[in-house]
Amino acid sequence: MSEDCIFCKIICGAIPSKKIYEDDEVIALNDINPSASVHFLIVPKLHIASLASCKTQHQALLGHMLLLAPKLAKEHGLAGFKTLINTGAAGGQEVFHIHIHVLGGGEKSPKA
Ligand code: 5GP
Ligand code: ZN
Repeated sequence: MSEDCIFCKIICGAIPSKKIYEDDEVIALNDINPSASVHFLIVPKLHIASLASCKTQHQALLGHMLLLAPKLAKEHGLAGFKTLINTGAAGGQEVFHIHIHVLGGGEKSPKA
């Protein structure tokens, strides 16, 4: 838990949100500013700043997050989808709590 982190606040319930998925390790929620008809984020409950901060100990968690993408995409009716992990400010990352973007169903803007 990082006190300044918006995703940590969402995970602990300090900021209300409509989660589309939750288990012991992760949540998924619709992006507040979607770039496609379907655009959700897969976010670990553990605060890890970015992919560049991940260590070997996070390998299983990263695999779990990645395998959720096709499962949740299918549940949202997507025949195909894009995944995106922005890493570092120079990589376009705005929220420094690692997350996977899942986008599909037609782009709304060229962001991803
Ligand atoms: P990044 O640029 O860090 O990869 O992506 C951060 C994403 O988080 C952005 O697409 C942004 O729209 C989304 N986001 C930022 N704040 C919130 C929030 O409070 N709730 C939700 N659901 N998404 C957020
Ligand atoms: Zn966090």
